[in-house]
Amino acid sequence: MTKWIYLFNEVKEVEKLAGGSWDDVKGIVGGKGAGLLDMTRAGVPVPPFFTATTLACNAYQKAGKFPAGMWEQELKALKVIEKKTGKKFGDPKNPLLVSCRSGAKFSMPGMMNTILNIGLTDAVTEGLIKATNNARFAWDSYRRLVEMFGTVVMDVDDEAFEHPLAEFKKEKGYNLDLDMTAEDWQFITGTYKQVYKQQTGEDFPQDPYKQLKLATEAVFKSWNAKRATAYRNKEGISHTLGTAVNICTMVFGNMGDDSGTGVAFTRNPSTGDHKMMGDYLLNAQGEDVVAGIRTPDAIENLVKKLPQAYKQFMGITAKLEKHYKDIQDVEFTIERGTLWMLQTRNGKRTAKASVKIAVDMANEGLITKEDAVMRVTPEIVDALLHPQFDDSAMKQAEKDGHFFAKGVNASPGAAVGQVYFDADITEKMALEHKQETIMVRPFTKPDDVHGMIASRGVLTSEGGATSHAAVVARQFGVPCVVGASAIKIDLEKREMHVGEIVVKEGEWISVNGTTGQVFVGKIPMTTPSLDEQTELMELLKWADNICARKDMRVAPKGSPTRGLQVWANADYPKDAQRARAYGAVGIGLCRTEHMFFETSRLPIVQRMILAKTSEERTVALNELLPYQRKDFDGLFEAMDGCPVIIRLIDPPLHEFMPDEEKLLEEVITMRVKGETEGLKAKENLLEAIKGMHESNPMMGLRGVRLSINMPEIVEMQVRAIFEAAADCTKRGVVVKPEVMIPLTGTVKELEWIQPRLERIAAAVMQEKEIKFDYKFGTMIEIPRAAVTAKEVAKQAEFFSFGTNDLTQMTYGYSRDDAERNFLITYQEQGILEKNPFQTIDRDGVGKLMQWAIEEGRKTRPNLEVGICGEHGGDPDSIEWCHIIGNNYVSCSPFRVPIARLAAAHAALKHRPQKGLKVQSSKLKVAKKKVAKKK
Ligand code: PEP
Ligand code: MG
Repeated sequence: MTKWIYLFNEVKEVEKLAGGSWDDVKGIVGGKGAGLLDMTRAGVPVPPFFTATTLACNAYQKAGKFPAGMWEQELKALKVIEKKTGKKFGDPKNPLLVSCRSGAKFSMPGMMNTILNIGLTDAVTEGLIKATNNARFAWDSYRRLVEMFGTVVMDVDDEAFEHPLAEFKKEKGYNLDLDMTAEDWQFITGTYKQVYKQQTGEDFPQDPYKQLKLATEAVFKSWNAKRATAYRNKEGISHTLGTAVNICTMVFGNMGDDSGTGVAFTRNPSTGDHKMMGDYLLNAQGEDVVAGIRTPDAIENLVKKLPQAYKQFMGITAKLEKHYKDIQDVEFTIERGTLWMLQTRNGKRTAKASVKIAVDMANEGLITKEDAVMRVTPEIVDALLHPQFDDSAMKQAEKDGHFFAKGVNASPGAAVGQVYFDADITEKMALEHKQETIMVRPFTKPDDVHGMIASRGVLTSEGGATSHAAVVARQFGVPCVVGASAIKIDLEKREMHVGEIVVKEGEWISVNGTTGQVFVGKIPMTTPSLDEQTELMELLKWADNICARKDMRVAPKGSPTRGLQVWANADYPKDAQRARAYGAVGIGLCRTEHMFFETSRLPIVQRMILAKTSEERTVALNELLPYQRKDFDGLFEAMDGCPVIIRLIDPPLHEFMPDEEKLLEEVITMRVKGETEGLKAKENLLEAIKGMHESNPMMGLRGVRLSINMPEIVEMQVRAIFEAAADCTKRGVVVKPEVMIPLTGTVKELEWIQPRLERIAAAVMQEKEIKFDYKFGTMIEIPRAAVTAKEVAKQAEFFSFGTNDLTQMTYGYSRDDAERNFLITYQEQGILEKNPFQTIDRDGVGKLMQWAIEEGRKTRPNLEVGICGEHGGDPDSIEWCHIIGNNYVSCSPFRVPIARLAAAHAALKHRPQKGLKVQSSKLKVAKKKVAKKK
């Protein structure tokens, strides 16, 4: 007979079933169940429980009923619990009450169902009053069961219960649930039972076993609830996993002022600070703390109220964190002074906290530096580089009287958007009307999640740092402020106000999730400085060290780098400075043509292009030379000691000329108006541009082809590069220039152009009487160059994959039009899994790269290989570059931190097995004659 139910003391049995894998234990009994089993084994006080497995859930989903034997096993397990607690289910004299909670392998907070106080009936409630001498507690518990059972199991709308309670409190003049007396709760229980009957057509079940059975089923069913399915879609969790159901002895935090309940994180999940953060409420039950209905007290204040329980709690949570080596998110209840731990799980946290906690834990010796690096994903680093409000703009907004309110800084980051007061409208405005929205609510519930996801930011007037709004916003990286209690929200009028300041639906506000401040209107945002993020800087240093370690990758002898480095694409000194500050150790691509477009230079460039004779062209180029020399000087200086790859001119020349259509229009207008002055010049220019026209310019006269047709341009560029390098060397700057020839298709092109350019390099060094190392190499952007890499490497000292063009030319998709025209459809139809212009297509483009490296290094074992297409900043593509033996990836300066982390992840994921020789046999073949510099 299949075992569907496991008791609190059966962790070993589950481990056996899971084949010793804790991950599979979680798969069978869910994350929560696994946590409870593990805590019980460790001697942590956990109320006795048993768990119905995810396998039972899946069997239930398939058959629409419990699998054979499951209910009988549940009853048997209940008997064991009765024995352990000395209480009896359904017995008015000494009643055992249980909770029924969902618990999937991966935590899905608030997405599935929970029912508390199962086992209460009219008779048992009377019995409980006698047993506890606490009528208020007993009636409060019973009314909660009727409400939860009604809404969760029988699908009754919340409002049907909330409305009569609100009316009752209004009549009595009560503000809080705490004002309710025993008689009041008894009255409300009666009302709820009537509501239940009205809504379901049945009496509230007086058979506790029926309650338990239906509750178990309801939790199984909640796996397929709309919100749970949506959550799994968003988080990429498989729909086939199913949820476990944990049936746990109820302990009560609402038995008086020596009782309470709370939730806490062992470190601050917002900032990562190493300080317990949480909330508790005295004389309250389970959901009260997270629901945000009563404003809870900070956990550190518990020491004054219940010192003994607090001390025990701090000791247990410290142990739990050490045991799981991660921040723990715990739930606890204190029943008449006795502490019970109800749950522990790895806490969800903000991007900022993820990095701080990983770095702190490594420094504390709890985890290794490798663990710390692996725990932080490239997405987290991305989020940390997201915009924040500009400090001075915030101060100005305050001065201008735009401050609105302050609440708890629940999820960091800046958000500016238009205010909406419910989740559906917020989502609609964001998705259909493409508005930037901020969702504002008194507090949020699981049904509001879709609105939160669609929002730039979330604001609530109630609840604390562990309220639903706070937890969910942190998880999704949505900036959030909660508990801004000065704000009065009028949901009917669709407006909110603080004193005189009124904000109506659709108006703009700015929410600062980092400080908790809210402003009316829009505040400008800035990109955060990496320098200030000390933990991230430290983590990225560890990442760099991992990549550079000997044991991380098989490297060919003489390889210019040990591991995969991160360089940057930068055209100007200020970009290079930023790249360096972000940790780039080289420039992988300087697109020199960008420098030609500057207003002071473009007329000279155009004159150079239109020159009729070589002499005329040389005059224009001589004017450009000082500009270029200055550009390169700045780059070398910024990258002192690091390689700088400068690509010679690449685009077709018509790109530097005025727009043909516009010029034609001007000429026609002048002719119509009879204007003659300047007409001839314009007509000549038009003719020249027409003469340059190509049907397919991206495959036309550009790159090395242009250089061979018009060598004077690149000759000037090489002179400028070497003059700048010589000047810098004289000033003490260490230069490592690498000249890159674009769009090579055959080695013959290099054989034609490269020696001429190298002669110029040698001449400049002789003129300047100085020597420094340099390289001449090529981009691999044309499939033919990749295929014939063995030949190409005879001339080229380095390869840099221009994967934008290489993808364009391998697929035959226009890089300028494909995304707009058909790529989206291709992805939707599953023809392409990913956009090949974002992530390298390993099977096609990737294979060409791999071949090119292997073949190229057969000719030149120390061939330097990099990538400078957009893929250089994409984590998946970076992993591929690591696998095939690239020396570096080069990407935009802003993506450098992400690339550094992704490179370390690739290194750790693919580290060679122990015992593997560092020199691969394939690479040993590579002893070939290498073309010498002339
Ligand atoms: C490339 O083709 O990948 C590349 C870096 O060059 P560009 O984008 O300038 O054509
Ligand atoms: Mg290119």
